[in-house]
Amino acid sequence: ANAFNGNNDAFLARQAEFESNVRSYPRKLPLAIAKAHGVWITDVENKQYLDCLAGAGTLALGHNHPDVLQSIQNVITSGLPLHTLDLTTPLKDQFSESLLSLLPGQGKDYCLQFTGPSGADAVEAALKLAKKATGRSGVISFSGGYHGMTHGALSVTGNLAPKEAVDGMMPEVQFMPYPHQYRCPLGIGGEAGVKALTYYFDNLINDVESGVRKPAAVILEAVQGEGGVNPAPAEWLQRIRKVTQEHGILLILDEVQAGFARTGKFFAFEHAGIEPDIIVMSKAVGGGLPLAVLGIKKQFDVWSPGHHTGTFRGNQLAMATGLTTLKILKEQDIAGKVAAQGEWLKQQLAAMQKRFPVIGHIRGLGMMIGIEIVKPNEAADHMGSFPADGELSALLQKKCFEAGLILERGGRHGAVLRLLPSLLITNDELAIFLDKFEQALIGAGVKPV
Ligand code: PMP
Repeated sequence: ANAFNGNNDAFLARQAEFESNVRSYPRKLPLAIAKAHGVWITDVENKQYLDCLAGAGTLALGHNHPDVLQSIQNVITSGLPLHTLDLTTPLKDQFSESLLSLLPGQGKDYCLQFTGPSGADAVEAALKLAKKATGRSGVISFSGGYHGMTHGALSVTGNLAPKEAVDGMMPEVQFMPYPHQYRCPLGIGGEAGVKALTYYFDNLINDVESGVRKPAAVILEAVQGEGGVNPAPAEWLQRIRKVTQEHGILLILDEVQAGFARTGKFFAFEHAGIEPDIIVMSKAVGGGLPLAVLGIKKQFDVWSPGHHTGTFRGNQLAMATGLTTLKILKEQDIAGKVAAQGEWLKQQLAAMQKRFPVIGHIRGLGMMIGIEIVKPNEAADHMGSFPADGELSALLQKKCFEAGLILERGGRHGAVLRLLPSLLITNDELAIFLDKFEQALIGAGVKPV
């Protein structure tokens, strides 16, 4: 393969021969990575990209943080085995103590369950556990929600596109509309829209004529990621917490993407001050290496040994990089830094929006920001907003890439450009983002007004 060095296209063409058609990112971001550091990725042609995707929010500290690399080195020199099943090590002990202390109430009411390497497998375990703990089988989930691609996780994912891959989902999954700042699914909008959605949820649970059997669990993201960066209003989350508690329904918060300081709080549900029954953690918890953990309220820790197992639980390297990540996030108050930067960035984008009305809506918290691209010259849709422009959004992603900026899309028609950079991104680097983004708008033929 060395013969190809210096040629992205040659690597991409060969990979297309090796890999199945389902490969996705290489189509949108056609580069072969040679190295990366901080927020920067360098391809084999030596071109630099500002990485505002960071492994879809996995790299809280960016690429190759020196302390993270050192923690890997420490595992190597300590003689710890690379594979341990879920046996105990001093490192696992330290990691567990550190992670638990970050859960609500310093984790005193919670225990941890190491599930495996991915967010999806943690969601899978959470759904199974909720069924066992309640003796019920249904799940309520939300439009636009994303929980992974395994069978159960896909069943509770509120997006039909990946469901085209398979027939026959998990039965008894009921989808509810999710409060969306820009496109209220009830066509009401604002506080009245949130209130109506809150009633809707109450009614679904409380009214026998809703036709929905009392579920085992409600699963949601406090800030939807793949759904296009949608932060849930605090009062809505608080009401869901209250109603689920009253009915003995487990509330599962999926913090796989929004957790670990990304939204300006350690967990996204902290914005609403609620305590979930099960917290799903992956991505950043492993500091860039594969790890997934559930935080479970002890009263729902109902499984016996053998009820749920797996080979890859407790990856020592991931615990080392995760422990270092947690330490830096906590000691350097990265959540506070990120909260301020998010507000600043939204102001800058709002100024850009005045000149470029294709920017229909800017939303998000901390370093989880969404920019919804719309058709500002067309009539508002039934939700009272300009129609989403997925085509322009795709073109903008391409133009950003050409300008040396990596971002992802999400939401309805992929019309939302999503920013999930390293949480250590500097203000200067955010200014580079803004420059490159404006360059991309002009490159895509968007005329400023
Ligand atoms: N939940 C959320 C909120 C996610 O964003 C993702 C991944 N984007 C997942 C679950 C699934 O995680 P994984 O891809 O590791 O299975």
